[in-house]
Amino acid sequence: MATERTFSIIKPDATARNLTGKIAAKLEDAGLRIVASKRVHWNEAQAKKFYEVHAERPFYNDLVSFMTSGPIVLQVLEGENAIAKNREVMGATNPEEAAAGTIRKEFAENIERNSVHGSDSAENAQIEIDLNFTADEIVG
Ligand code: GDP
Repeated sequence: MATERTFSIIKPDATARNLTGKIAAKLEDAGLRIVASKRVHWNEAQAKKFYEVHAERPFYNDLVSFMTSGPIVLQVLEGENAIAKNREVMGATNPEEAAAGTIRKEFAENIERNSVHGSDSAENAQIEIDLNFTADEIVG
């Protein structure tokens, strides 16, 4: 299995409840290494660009409002099979459907305020990393 990098966000519902460390610990316990990390507060244009793939979905405007409502933590995670491993430790989008022990099962408030984002493919991981980090910010 190849070493991969993926892109992660700790979302505003989680930073508001002071869960940054608990979520990072779950990622690290799963064998993922945090090789880049920064806390930012997105403006509307940044959130719209990141989620433009969802522009036609009915929840797009709500999602943009949510993602600009408070600070978020952007991270690059590295490890064996990192993209799938991160999705596994995150759990299903809807916390009601998430497996026991996953981040979303333990921490998410609902399908929108679901605590974390993680890239869903190698192609999107590269796009999302490039959109949010310069090469010299990744120091793993
Ligand atoms: P993910 O890859 O598991 O994050 O899920 P998606 O790519 O399908 O959706 C992106 C984000 O949009 C999710 O993480 C949620 O924050 C939000 N979202 C997804 N589905 C819904 C929905 O049905 N309603 C609302 N309000 N938000 C949603």
